[in-house]
Amino acid sequence: MSRTDSAGLFQFDNSYARLPERFYQRIDPTPVAAPSLIRVNAPLARELGLDPSALTSPEAAAILAGNVVAPGSEPLAMAYAGHQFGNFVPQLGDGRAILIGEVIDIHGVRRDIHLKGAGRTRFSRRGDGRAALGPVLREYIVSEAMAALGIPTTRTLAAVATGEQVLREGLLPGAVLARVAAGHARVGTFEYFAARRDIEALRALADYAIARHYPACREAANPYRAFLDAVIAAQADLIAKWLLVGFIHGVMNTDNMTISGETIDFGPCAFMDFYNPRQVYSSIDARGRYAYANQPTIGHWNLVCLAETLVPLLAETEEAGIAEAEHAMAAFGPKFEAAYRLGLTRKLGLGAAEEDTALALELLRLMADNEADFTLSFRRLSEAALDPAKEAGVRSLFKDPAALEAWLPAWRGRLRDAEGMRAVNPAFIARNHLVEDALAAAVRDGDFGPFETLLEVLTRPFDDQPGREVYGLPPRPEQVVTRTFCGT
Ligand code: AMP
Ligand code: MG
Repeated sequence: MSRTDSAGLFQFDNSYARLPERFYQRIDPTPVAAPSLIRVNAPLARELGLDPSALTSPEAAAILAGNVVAPGSEPLAMAYAGHQFGNFVPQLGDGRAILIGEVIDIHGVRRDIHLKGAGRTRFSRRGDGRAALGPVLREYIVSEAMAALGIPTTRTLAAVATGEQVLREGLLPGAVLARVAAGHARVGTFEYFAARRDIEALRALADYAIARHYPACREAANPYRAFLDAVIAAQADLIAKWLLVGFIHGVMNTDNMTISGETIDFGPCAFMDFYNPRQVYSSIDARGRYAYANQPTIGHWNLVCLAETLVPLLAETEEAGIAEAEHAMAAFGPKFEAAYRLGLTRKLGLGAAEEDTALALELLRLMADNEADFTLSFRRLSEAALDPAKEAGVRSLFKDPAALEAWLPAWRGRLRDAEGMRAVNPAFIARNHLVEDALAAAVRDGDFGPFETLLEVLTRPFDDQPGREVYGLPPRPEQVVTRTFCGT
């Protein structure tokens, strides 16, 4: 590992590294054979105060691959625990991701720069610490698609090919992803210290998270209660946003739920094509624990895990602490419902009266019965709202086009914001078949063209893109993807 004195790209200021040593392992990334930059996210680089052209230099590729530790970088792997599919694992941690440092972006927000696939750490267990190209590109596409949809998410600054192979179901090309997050603390980070009865660390972590993400909590009568309330509110809002674009996270383990309220960990995630509340794509979710419509329930479950860890901080006695935790948790359901219903009625240009919600829920029922494409139904309704002649385009998405006979006039009768609909109903989502095609071209043929084009389309999801209509269409029967894989 070489340390370079060349002018630093990143102006690091590392707050996590100032926390007690038991929060992490200090470890440098393991160099790779032949780093070569696949892509840099120029708009995100600018947001981070970086010159995108500086990021395309060989020196930058070496830093982003983990071959060079940049000046000011203090690489570390974070310790965390987590409930995986409901089972507690007291030690998980960054087994293949290394935080190389934090920067302050142009809005004054502190952002983590993480290298995913950067080599083994103390937390790697049997893993190789590496990432394969396919899952790296998948995370790049889906995280940036989410950001463009206006959904809180970790971002992707760059992808670098390693020139090495990783062993998965066979030998696959390796890559490193530079992930950017407002923070990487997870529900599982709190669980790590709670499982060790390390109250001092819990308090330090909570204070850290409050200062970084929810500074207003410091003024509250009970800052830790206010903090729990804030995380609950952020997650209720996030999960509502997922549902409103048909997103299925796929592995909502507590180690994959951030304190910041950002979507994290794009493993077997997927956007659904036709509307089916029970939809599951993940190959490892046989029982549908993380099915589309189960996500709010699981969000609640995960937040209960967080609330339990905070009990010692919430009050003087355990009994009072539990009461505080329960009161806080009671807000999750109503907050989620309110955010979801508001978003759903807005998607239909409706108001917030009970009749409006009933109308929206009725549409969902009809969509499920008729295997109507989720994204396209709402997008075409946005067009039909402005031009009734376009109702035929909506009907044609339903197995029985007559299913909407009563619904359409009822909706038109209550419609009040036709103009606003397009801005909340994307034309383009990261459809599974498009993602798979882009990944296959890159991994099999070394052709990054489809990846580049798809990314371009998905970063403007609300714009009509003439000539790119095919990216907005549901898969043909032979293109349907039924399973997605973690690829770790
Ligand atoms: P994930 O499924 O990505 O949320 O990861 C769950 C846990 O497995 C985390 O502690 C990861 O760091 C670890 N892990 C996943 N893949 C690897 C790998 N290839 N090498 C080492 N650790 C891994
Ligand atoms: Mg994870």
